[in-house]
Amino acid sequence: MFSLTGIVEIPSVEIPVIRRALTCLTLLTLFSVAAQAAEPIKALIVDGQNNHRVWPTTTKMMKSYLEDTRLFTVDVATAAPKGTDPNFKPEFSKYDVVISNFGHGAADWPKETQKAFEKFVSGGGGFVVVHAADNSFPNWIAYNQMIGIGGWGGRNEKSGPYVYTDADGKVIRDTSPGRGGNHGAQWEFPVIVRDKDHPITKGMPTEWLHAKDELYDMLRGPGQNMHILATAESNVTNRHEPMIFTIKYGKGRVFHTPMGHAEYSQECVGFITTITRGTEWAATGKVTIPVPDDFPSAEKTSSRKFAE
Ligand code: ZN
Repeated sequence: MFSLTGIVEIPSVEIPVIRRALTCLTLLTLFSVAAQAAEPIKALIVDGQNNHRVWPTTTKMMKSYLEDTRLFTVDVATAAPKGTDPNFKPEFSKYDVVISNFGHGAADWPKETQKAFEKFVSGGGGFVVVHAADNSFPNWIAYNQMIGIGGWGGRNEKSGPYVYTDADGKVIRDTSPGRGGNHGAQWEFPVIVRDKDHPITKGMPTEWLHAKDELYDMLRGPGQNMHILATAESNVTNRHEPMIFTIKYGKGRVFHTPMGHAEYSQECVGFITTITRGTEWAATGKVTIPVPDDFPSAEKTSSRKFAE
């Protein structure tokens, strides 16, 4: 037989519990919706001096790729075209991540800006290094620690080892004398994923064909706290050069790709996926952006024509 008191007790005891749980759920839902709507990842692209004259276009491309994910808001801070710009003082602390589209021959930032940037990254800020950004500032010690390895600007064995991998992905740190930074003719080259479990590369095919680009080789630097996620075999050195890698700098996360020479290189879906995922990871330590269906395969490149 049912106990009447039992039936009566159910609403008096359990409904408040259910109601409380529902209220919690509603609040959680409202909170996460509000958080998504109110707190996008704040990204800043810095540019203004780059030997790649296409830089105003590649800044627009990267800004658009990031905004298209709906995860980011993107500002741009542009330095004066020549010399150290005394007014170049972005408020790094307002952002979660800074992307550099500076290049070879860029004049040093004002000391105050350098110090603010070092504080930003070491304090836990994200930093993204694209293509010729690893040519910049050969004499700025902290910058070279952040980028891990770089090229040109007089870089040589004194800058640190030439870092590459063997065919099996074993990291080689070559301290023998030689220049830092080189590339052959542009071509479509295979990118080999070496770490399939890292958030940036997870879900990418083990090998994918990158659109026409410069394959940087012989990059040198301190190479400390550096983790190589993908490589490409250079047809100049016949070594596997780092193409996607991360560096830990203090509490900060740095994502570095030497890919992205020209607009056709940055139209590659592999590049778009790499730069958006790498930027999300540098900002948050996580990646929610999926590998898209039109991602390149081992046999075939895949590009999206950029329209302004
Ligand atoms: Zn280039």
